[in-house]
Amino acid sequence: MIDYQAILNKIHANVIQEADKGHIARYIPELSRVNPERFGMHLKLISGEEFAVGDSEVGFSIQSISKVLTLAMAMSKIGTHIWDRVDVEPSGNPFNHLSLLELEEGIPRNPLINSGAIVIADILVSQLENPKADFLKYVHDITGDDSISYNLKVAQSEKETGFNNFAAANLLKSFNNLNNSVDDVLDFYFHQCSLEMTCSQLTKAFFLFANKGKCLAQMARITKSQAKRINAIMLTCGFYDEAGEFAFEVGLPGKSGVGGGIVAALPHEFTIAVWAPGLNERGNSKLGMKALEHFTTLTNQSIF
Ligand code: GLU
Repeated sequence: MIDYQAILNKIHANVIQEADKGHIARYIPELSRVNPERFGMHLKLISGEEFAVGDSEVGFSIQSISKVLTLAMAMSKIGTHIWDRVDVEPSGNPFNHLSLLELEEGIPRNPLINSGAIVIADILVSQLENPKADFLKYVHDITGDDSISYNLKVAQSEKETGFNNFAAANLLKSFNNLNNSVDDVLDFYFHQCSLEMTCSQLTKAFFLFANKGKCLAQMARITKSQAKRINAIMLTCGFYDEAGEFAFEVGLPGKSGVGGGIVAALPHEFTIAVWAPGLNERGNSKLGMKALEHFTTLTNQSIF
């Protein structure tokens, strides 16, 4: 039996000593206010047991991590039709890259880069009666936690400065790959990114990816096959232009966000979330990557 608590304590003690904690994302003004010393980690086993260390109950902006949840919801609504509008190839580019390589013929490379996530947001805006409220309810339902909410200041802050995302949405619109107005789709997208969650809540939200599509309450939210496909996309596309490095060092499907969160899953075993706001030069949590690398090394648990 692995002593998970001792391992988390050891990782915590080890990584907080790092002198270089990375740099906080400043391109969304509201995000730059976070304390760079924060560090939290939470592990949830499929069997129900949980282990935590540090700031695992402190909320933070999940940003791009939300793209996996919107993808799951969109897949449950329109199934394989998604793949007519978004591809599943890693981009090897930063999250906000706008090159035509990422957007060939108006088809984004994958659903976890911004242009792809904006197409997924468009699908949900078409499919849902009250997109922002319905998506928030979906997050409440899969986590069993109604306290999760959007951070409206973060959403507004990003709306005021998100020129790159407006450019991506306009480009998609010019290729006829956006059915709703740029403003409506981006309003939804900026809200999904502004969701505030704790490490503990993230391990619950991602439970369905480790549990064959069934959420915490054991309700099927996506099919077994869709869970497998989302895990494949996370593994190949979940870490901007550092997905290879994450697979190499950590060996778990996962997703990071510029708020400094990372959540990962080992199918049939556990979900794990870590938060440390300082980012490396590729936009992934510096200490978060290190912590997960230690975790899979010390527990000898990864998909490989
Ligand atoms: N809201 C951010 C953006 O679209 C998400 C960035 C991220 O976490 O990768 O710019």
